[in-house]
Amino acid sequence: MHYRYCIVGGGVAAAAALEGIRSVDAEGSVLLLSRENHRPYHRPPLTKDLWTGERTLEQLPVHPDDWYREQRVDLRLRREVVEIDPEKRVLWDESGDEIGYDELLIATGCRPRRLQAMGAEQPCVRHFRDLEDYLELEHRLQRVQHVAIVGGGFTALEMCMALRGRDIGVTLVLPEEYPMPRMLPRELGVGIVEYLRDHDVEVVTGETLDRIVESAGHVHARTRGGSDLTTQLVLVDVGGEPLVELAEAAGLDIDSGIVVDEAGRASQPHVWAAGDVAEFPYPALGQLMRVESSDHAEHMGRLVGANMASACTGAPLSAYDHMPRKWFRVGELLFEGVGELSARLDHETLWLEPGREGAFLYTWEGRVRGVLLLGLSSRLEWARDLVRTNALAAEIGPTLLAPVRH
Ligand SMILES: Cc1cc2nc3c(=O)[nH]c(=O)nc-3n(C[C@H](O)[C@H](O)[C@H](O)COP(=O)(O)OP(=O)(O)OC[C@H]3O[C@@H](n4cnc5c(N)ncnc54)[C@H](O)[C@@H]3O)c2cc1C
Repeated sequence: MHYRYCIVGGGVAAAAALEGIRSVDAEGSVLLLSRENHRPYHRPPLTKDLWTGERTLEQLPVHPDDWYREQRVDLRLRREVVEIDPEKRVLWDESGDEIGYDELLIATGCRPRRLQAMGAEQPCVRHFRDLEDYLELEHRLQRVQHVAIVGGGFTALEMCMALRGRDIGVTLVLPEEYPMPRMLPRELGVGIVEYLRDHDVEVVTGETLDRIVESAGHVHARTRGGSDLTTQLVLVDVGGEPLVELAEAAGLDIDSGIVVDEAGRASQPHVWAAGDVAEFPYPALGQLMRVESSDHAEHMGRLVGANMASACTGAPLSAYDHMPRKWFRVGELLFEGVGELSARLDHETLWLEPGREGAFLYTWEGRVRGVLLLGLSSRLEWARDLVRTNALAAEIGPTLLAPVRH
């Protein structure tokens, strides 16, 4: 069996890559292998709109079912690729099928980091990434009045609000004083904790779970500091890690992800990577970055797909210069960021309305490297310009935010 294009992964980057391939090559044979049960779908609603009813399961797929047939894409679900040989240009799935390719895209995304606690492998402890996780949780919650959420990632915060919306009691156990301390300025992180408390989420800071025991429908957990917590389910979000093992075993360069050039090419010929798993050159910052963002997966997937097809047809390749938008939503607080969002940088806060609308500038030697907006979607392009031009933070004042308010 041989295909012109093989894609490993069934997320948004993979789905967008199919579009990119077909924008250049209408005929070449394409195979997508995904270990999931479902065709590529959007993950952000799993912790947001599905819980509020703003979206339904039918609205999750990236493409309708017919699209794959119309585009002559072979789709193999529930297939895990276990080995790649870039020299022979073949890969193997877990059932032993050998598949040859001309160009290969690795878009394997991330997996949730596991909670390091005694008892963390019991069924009452759930990690959360896939549609199957959502379906399972949704089913279990019919019998649950209280959930403990461990970890301070944004999906943990979103799930706090989703569960409160169902009138389910929530205790959030945060390892630090506030969530996402590597990204958020303290002022903002502490503000989020207050916001959650205002919405009746019990927040325990500076703690994690050490030991979890399930008995008679209840879950008894002990924190590292020695406090006891009784709940019915433990939901974990202690971050994600890129799925690089396949690429690493194939001899590709790995840093914080699969290292690619501006066109998406990995370190071995005819192998490409895109989405959460790729570490790519970020032109505005002059450094390599790995970004976990749906906007990034979509844009990069499409571009790399088109480049794979261009490489086959001898057409010139394009550089990835999209500045990805990272976003998340805690209740009605919408956060959107571009550039380097690192709490290690200096930062300045510009409030239009404290706690509701503002911009957080991440700076290095007085120049902007990243911007996080709260409630100011209309200023996203402005934020991108600040990063792109490496703007001087001292020349930016809150009044600059105001004119575009609607
Ligand atoms: C619950 C949730 C909410 C999110 N909300 C937001 C949000 O609000 N805003 C935002 O910007 N981003 C959000 N994200 C992140 C965003 O969804 C990801 O950045 C995006 O999905 C990355 O797409 P991807 O295609 O690179 O990887 P993924 O979506 O992770 O897809 C990778 C696919 O590859 C498959 N796979 C892995 N290994 C193999 C293998 N060996 N063989 C076959 N298949 C394999 C996986 O099963 C998966 O289907 C959220 C993520 C989650 C989990």
